[in-house]
Amino acid sequence: MKKIAIYGKGGIGKSTTTSNLSAALALKGYKVMQIGCDPKSDSTKNLMGGKIIPSVLDKIKEKGDDITLSDVVYEGFGGVLCVESGGPTPGIGCAGRGIISAFEKLAELNAFETYKPDIVIYDVLGDVVCGGFAMPIRDGYAKEVFIVSSGEMMALYAADNISRAIKNFEKRSYAKVGGLILNSKNIEDEREIVEKACVEIGTDIVMQIPRCADIQTAENAGGTVFEFTKNSEMLAIYNDLADKILARTSEN
Ligand code: ADP
Ligand code: MG
Repeated sequence: MKKIAIYGKGGIGKSTTTSNLSAALALKGYKVMQIGCDPKSDSTKNLMGGKIIPSVLDKIKEKGDDITLSDVVYEGFGGVLCVESGGPTPGIGCAGRGIISAFEKLAELNAFETYKPDIVIYDVLGDVVCGGFAMPIRDGYAKEVFIVSSGEMMALYAADNISRAIKNFEKRSYAKVGGLILNSKNIEDEREIVEKACVEIGTDIVMQIPRCADIQTAENAGGTVFEFTKNSEMLAIYNDLADKILARTSEN
């Protein structure tokens, strides 16, 4: 089982990249589980016909000890197993704590043993890397971390913070930065800016994803480019990304 995490600044394109990556991997024959770790709970919506599934936290609140795996694991496009950790109402409670409770519940319910995914992908908000948001890079949850960034300063700032957090935890866990996914915003000299930042961070660009309107067309229809814009150049791009991620990750 491969276990990877996708981190990056809010709004940078993590969930879009992750759900298209999951779809590409699923169509290649892999059993994928995508776990959204963002209080917005919208990581998997493009695999679920545009709908937000109930989160683990919501179901814990609603059902207590009666919760079962079918309450929180939903099969989406291509058979991708979709999970959302959920989070508290904005302004009340700690969002990171939500991730911890959700992970504990998934372990208690034997989610991995039951579904036996080939790849688990955590899609994690990286503006803050407090205890909860650092969960996927600690305690063996994810082995390789891929950071999504554009050439914008704040996105690169978040990328640097995430890589620092990973290095801090390196002794306690074994997560490593697997590379940076450049999700283009078409700013001037974007690739050069990101390449320079990668040298400082100590990583490299896995792949550059172009800015493409097909992504929004598919999203507006409730899905990934694999489902809704089948003639798009983006299919080859995400297939290539899937191959590169597979090549940079190890079994465990
Ligand atoms: P995050 O999960 O990092 O908060 P999202 O994946 O939700 O960000 O992306 C935010 C918006 O950016 C979405 O509406 C999505 O359609 C758009 N988007 C992401 N990547 C691209 C891209 N390469 N080209 C065009 N639009 C994109
Ligand atoms: Mg997201």
